[in-house]
Amino acid sequence: MTNSVFKGLSGKLLPEFFADIKTPYYIIDEAKLISNAEILSSVIENTGCKILLAQKAFSNFDFYPLLSRYISGTEASGLFEARLGYEEMPDGEVHVFCAAYRDDEFPELLEYADHIVFNSVNQLKKFGGAAKERGKSIGLRINPECSTQTDHEIYDPCARGSRLGVTRDVWNREMTDSLLSLLDGLHFHTLCEQNSDALETTLKAVEMRFGDVLLRMKWLNMGGGHHITKEDYDVRLLEKLIKYARDKWDLTVYLEPGEAVALNAGYLISRVLDIVENGGIKTTILDASAACHMPDVIEMPYTPPLLGGYPTGVKNYSYRLAGPTCLSGDIIGEYSFADELNIGDILVFGDMAIYTTCKNNTFNGMPLPDIYKMSADGKFTKLTDFGYLDFKMRLGSRG
Ligand SMILES: *Cc1c(COP(=O)(O)O)cnc(C)c1O
Repeated sequence: MTNSVFKGLSGKLLPEFFADIKTPYYIIDEAKLISNAEILSSVIENTGCKILLAQKAFSNFDFYPLLSRYISGTEASGLFEARLGYEEMPDGEVHVFCAAYRDDEFPELLEYADHIVFNSVNQLKKFGGAAKERGKSIGLRINPECSTQTDHEIYDPCARGSRLGVTRDVWNREMTDSLLSLLDGLHFHTLCEQNSDALETTLKAVEMRFGDVLLRMKWLNMGGGHHITKEDYDVRLLEKLIKYARDKWDLTVYLEPGEAVALNAGYLISRVLDIVENGGIKTTILDASAACHMPDVIEMPYTPPLLGGYPTGVKNYSYRLAGPTCLSGDIIGEYSFADELNIGDILVFGDMAIYTTCKNNTFNGMPLPDIYKMSADGKFTKLTDFGYLDFKMRLGSRG
């Protein structure tokens, strides 16, 4: 696990250097963000597609000005993210997809978003006219009914009975000529951490079920879940597929990756508070929590990369790393180490920029980790910090 994930740290992140900073905290690695963004911008250059940042994965807006030099805008899951994209990446396009929009929010949403994607024919009928009158580009999310992964069913929008996207059956039953005339584009999002072969399979399903209507569209949004910046990702095939869609249906292709934008561009620094033993298993209790500070470790689940940590059995000393909360399952994973761990040791988790700072919580009254920026030139600055009031303000009157 001591691999390329930590390449950006060499020489910079020596534990001694960080010993004085209050743990836990996140570091966002600007150089890594840039190298991801360079890959994405080369796809834009080679294909003429547009790429949006899916903010639900990464919304550390201090980096939006940097990202906007490489990508085309932001994608939002609702009102607040749309506003954030509008405010913090003002030169970019602002797209929004939401499973259902609210009457009381839709007018304000129209202030921020330029592309609005609906999840059902009902919602298109309800809000499409108003959006069109305001000059918005209108899309509908389709469901190509093509599952390409079985590992993580909660991340499979094509699972049986999924509420996400309109199937061709439903389209045939509900779509009318006047609603169709509102549509500028179609949107699908079916992948999760997948390579371009899965997109190829999905695009065939999209063509089979919706090829006829795509001829009438100005754009096709292929969603997120493309692991574009991962080492083994086949970018050539992605570019081929984008060009295929572009030429076949004469439209603009959008991608809206979240994870790929900030892949491996962050670290979570934590400290060993205690080490306990039960039934031969040694568990370190850290000041960082899986449940609070890396929720996908439990939700997905997965074991995050750890600097100096190896799979169990590889090195001599094995530990279970766990958080300080009262949740029995607040376990980050099992690792082995070349040396024994001690109370006070600093541990550095990798790939901690995505689905962390924008997804963490204060369960158990846990503090939110502060957020630091590691600039491309190695400079280190605090972006924000959190305290007791960030915990309290969500729970009652603000007096
Ligand atoms: C989650 C999501 C994304 C981003 O997915 P990643 O796996 O982070 O690339 C993009 N679009 C939609 C509609 C999503 O729900």
